[in-house]
Amino acid sequence: MRAFMLRGFGDPIVSIETEKPNAAAGRVIVRIAAAGVCYRDYLTWRGFSPRVKLPVVPGHEFAGVVEEVGAGVVDLKPGDRVAGMMYEYCGQCDYCKSGREYLCPSRKVYGEDLPGAFAEYISADSKSLVKVPNNVSLEAASFAACVLSTVFRGVRKISPARQILVTGAGGGVGIHAVQIAKATGAKVIAITSAAKAEHVAKFADYVVTEREFAGEVKKLGGADGAVEAVGGPTLEQTVRSLNWGGKVALIGNIDPKPAAVPLGLLILKEIEILPVIQGGRRDLEEVLQLVAAGVVKPIYTTHNFDEVPKLVEETPEWLHLGRRVALISKQSVQNHSH
Ligand SMILES: [Zn+2]
Ligand SMILES: [Zn+2]
Repeated sequence: MRAFMLRGFGDPIVSIETEKPNAAAGRVIVRIAAAGVCYRDYLTWRGFSPRVKLPVVPGHEFAGVVEEVGAGVVDLKPGDRVAGMMYEYCGQCDYCKSGREYLCPSRKVYGEDLPGAFAEYISADSKSLVKVPNNVSLEAASFAACVLSTVFRGVRKISPARQILVTGAGGGVGIHAVQIAKATGAKVIAITSAAKAEHVAKFADYVVTEREFAGEVKKLGGADGAVEAVGGPTLEQTVRSLNWGGKVALIGNIDPKPAAVPLGLLILKEIEILPVIQGGRRDLEEVLQLVAAGVVKPIYTTHNFDEVPKLVEETPEWLHLGRRVALISKQSVQNHSH
């Protein structure tokens, strides 16, 4: 099969021919239809994650069709359309048993600890695969675990909130956070660049493009919750935008550099900062139902499989709206509006 391989941090990601995996017990071979390209892939490529052992096939966001199942797999069969969680988990520890698979100490991430998604086929633990509703495209489902289920958990942590602020609202995380926040009934204040303002305005109640946005947000009545999808560069303004008792969900592959937070303001306003690593299996199932119901409209651009190295390397310069999805094989990728 064809795959992309990362051999050295910062080195070119190269196309290779390698053995297609076989279905071991409890595992499923998925023929990948689409794989999302994420800031996390960029950080992996650059070597920000010392845990990653090279060489590795990168990529952790995928959806496809079940090709083969190993012994003991009863809930999936060849032909099923599935989306991958971005990691595997033990299913036995206290975290897993309480539905917090994202904190499992044995968690292994595709494209970092396990062979990843920039390949024609992937071997996945059946527990890490979720069926995709019929009217949801595999392109949209490919990034549902990393983006949508994480945002879904984050928005739940800050809800109910009358007004929700979203920073980086034009990005892959932000544009979906705006929609998921709207789905709770909140009014949404989107912070984005002037270049993306017009498009973001189609989803948000208010759009603010100032770098120092707290003043504008206060004029709109302040925010009771925030999805902080940028991190250090915006966190202080986010804290200043919040009303007393406000909550911040910290989401995304935030810049590894430390950020300054005004502690006095946090305490005086009793603002809670709530980090979100990822979603769990149930979050992924539930958010795919929101997509199926048309409440959340995944926003993405599609690209050829050949473009994967360029897509990863150019991540910080990418200025278009939403997620980038590499099309790996044409199969049951139903029509779905972009
Ligand atoms: Zn991702
Ligand atoms: Zn576990």
